[in-house]
This record gives sequence, structure tokens and C-alpha cells, in this order.
Amino acid sequence: MQLDLRTLCFNLMVFSTIFGVGMILYAKKHKSFVGIRVIGWGQLLLGLGALLLALRHLINDFTSIMVANLVIYIAVILIYRGLLRFLDIPLPFKGYLGPLLTVLLAGFLYYYKFHVPNINIRIVAFSTLFSVLCFIAVFGLSKYTKECGRTAIRIVAFMFFAVGIFHVFGALWTIFQAQLQDFMKAGLFSSLSVIAAEFIVILTTYATIWIATETLQSALSEMARTDSLTQLYNRRTFEEYCAVEISRAGRNNSIFTIIMCDLDHFKHINDQYGHPFGDEVLKIFAQILRNNVRKQDVVARFGGEEFVILLPDTDSEQGLTVAEHLRETTLSTRVPTEDGSDLSFSVSFGVAHYSRSDNEWKAVLSRADKALYAAKKQGRNRTVCM
Ligand code: GH3
Ligand code: MG
Ligand code: MG
Repeated sequence: MQLDLRTLCFNLMVFSTIFGVGMILYAKKHKSFVGIRVIGWGQLLLGLGALLLALRHLINDFTSIMVANLVIYIAVILIYRGLLRFLDIPLPFKGYLGPLLTVLLAGFLYYYKFHVPNINIRIVAFSTLFSVLCFIAVFGLSKYTKECGRTAIRIVAFMFFAVGIFHVFGALWTIFQAQLQDFMKAGLFSSLSVIAAEFIVILTTYATIWIATETLQSALSEMARTDSLTQLYNRRTFEEYCAVEISRAGRNNSIFTIIMCDLDHFKHINDQYGHPFGDEVLKIFAQILRNNVRKQDVVARFGGEEFVILLPDTDSEQGLTVAEHLRETTLSTRVPTEDGSDLSFSVSFGVAHYSRSDNEWKAVLSRADKALYAAKKQGRNRTVCM
């Protein structure tokens, strides 16, 4: 079977150019993703190398052999480097290996073209060094530990591995072949290696877009779950956790406590120091809450200057201790103001725990709210438990 090498090279050129331009335009639109532009340039360069290969015998040998092979080699280095950068993986061997191998390849190509002309050795040298690149890419990709787009990365890593193995076999096979006179008639292996390069272009693009989509999607769902000012959970997420917690309590006979709190005289703080300063105070208070509860406790901004905490496996007595600790910590916190003084502020807390007679978690929340109201009525800066 014989596939026409020139046609395949033109085909690769068209593919790589379209994908390369697409990736560069995508990178322009999505500046938060690094590395995609490098992949795009790598693909464009691969297209150029394929074009130069396709023009064998129509342009001079130096360009269609030396330049074409080196351009293709550098293109693949750029593609995997861009991919690793996109995935935030450090380059294996500090990135020295790619340039070193390129110089080595240039030496081989030059020597076996202009000193001791030998197509077979040139093919063996290129394939061997190309397979090393593929294995470096696999090694780099194996360092990817994130959950996002893991399947896509496995596919790309497998593809690089397969292309690497293919080139190892190709090199071995070429060693035992009769001396070739014309690269354009080098047989099936050369044709298949062009198709392998198409795989590199297609799969790296599709993995990149896959991961970019997943990253954007998870950022969006995170945005829908959190409060933008304090970065705490929002009310809706808090309610979701409460629903899960009450069904767990029903199943496992466990208990939970809800703390509700509200900054005292917060309107005065806004009025006196301005709304942006009020925002700062809210952020500082959110930090105090987060830093002083356990990992499994759910802290959320309920709205305005009102916050809630869901404490699983906690009775109201323990909840009271937590609330008191939070109240005291807040009271001892000083916020520097623009006029050089330090502001201190207080918070009132309402605590309520789940009891078997509660059919709904909202009943617990309602008691915590009543307790908070009572704390306000009793003069603020205190904790009331119901
Ligand atoms: P109390 O001790 O009874 O809770 O008095 P208060 O002044 O804290 O309560 P009030 O409900 O009268 O005022 C709440 C204020 O919180 C009014 C509102 O402008 C302010 N506020 C709500 N959300 C934000 C916000 O996101 N940023 C800022 N800076 N202020 C907010
Ligand atoms: Mg208030
Ligand atoms: Mg309020």
C-alpha cells in the first residue's frame, strides 16, 4: 500500500494552519489561559514544516530537508511546552532538553545530507529524536494531578506515547531497509508519520478546549455558590447544606446547630466611614468566622451584614461556646480607619440546635433568628441560645 506523501504533507499543512490560527485567536479572546498561544504557534510552524516537506524537489534541498525537519521538530516542542504551560506543569529537565535535541538533530541532518548523504540514517535520527520528544511530553503530562479534564489529558498522553512508540518502530524498521534513494518514495512509514503529526495537532487542540471549558464551567458554578464580597458561601448554598444536614440527622440520629449573627449598629459604621469601609469590615468579619470554625462547618453570608454558620454534630451548648469565642474575637479586633484611629465593632449572636421534633431545618434557623433578635433586644454584643 502506498499513500502519496506530498498530498499528506499538504493535508497536514492545511490542518495545522487552520487549528493554529484558531488557537491563536482563542488565546486572544481568553487571556486568562496561558500556553494556548504557544500551542497555536507550534501548530502554525508544523504547517510550515509540512509545506516545506511537500515542496521536496521543487525547492532547494537545504530548505526542504534541513529547515523542514527542524521546523517540524521545533513545532512539536512548542506544542507540548504550550500544553504543559497551559496545565501549569513545570517543564521536564528545566526545558533544556528540547533545544539540546534540536541542535543534535540539526547536526545529524547536516552531516548525513551534505557530508555522507544517507536518507536512511536521517530518517532513523529524526524518528529516534522525535520519539524522545514524545516521551518527554508523556513524562510532563503524567505530572498532571488536577481532576479537571483528566480524561482529556490521559488521551493526549496516550497519543504522545503511541506516536513515540510508532517512531521507535519506524527507526528500527528503517535500519533494516534497503538504502533509499528518494525520501518522497520512502514508503508507508513516512506517510504514517505525517498522519501521526495530524493526531498531535487535533488531540492537543481538543484537549485544550476541553479543559478550558471545564475550567470556565467550574469557575461559573463556584461564582453561583459564593458571595462575591466575602468569598463565603451564599444563602442558597447554605440552604443546600442545611437540607443535606437535616436528612443526615434523620438517618443517623445526629444533631446540628445553627448560629446566626448580625453586626451591631453597622449602619453607623457605613454612615461614619463610608460604604467601602463598611465592605472592608464585612470582609474582615467573614475572615474571623472562617478562621475560627472547623473545616466541616459551613459559613455563609445570609444577606447584608447577617451571617450564618451550620455546625454539624454540635449541640447548642457547644454552639454557644463557638459563638462566644467568635463574639470575643470580633470585639478584640481593630480595624484601622482613614482618620488614623482604630475601629472596633461588635456582633450579636443567636444559637439554636436541631431537635427531633423539627421537620424542617428552617425551624432551627427560625429559632436562631429569634435568639438573635432577643440578643439585639437585650442590648447587643451578646449571645442568646434557644
Ligand atoms: P443593628 O445593630 O440593629 O443590627 O443595627 P444595624 O445598623 O446594623 O442594622 P440595620 O439593619 O439598620 O442596617 C444594616 C446596614 O447594613 C444597612 C445597609 O446599608 C448595610 N449593608 C447591607 N449590606 C451591605 C454591604 O454589602 N456593604 C455595606 N457597606 N453595607 C451594607
Ligand atoms: Mg446589624
Ligand atoms: Mg441586619
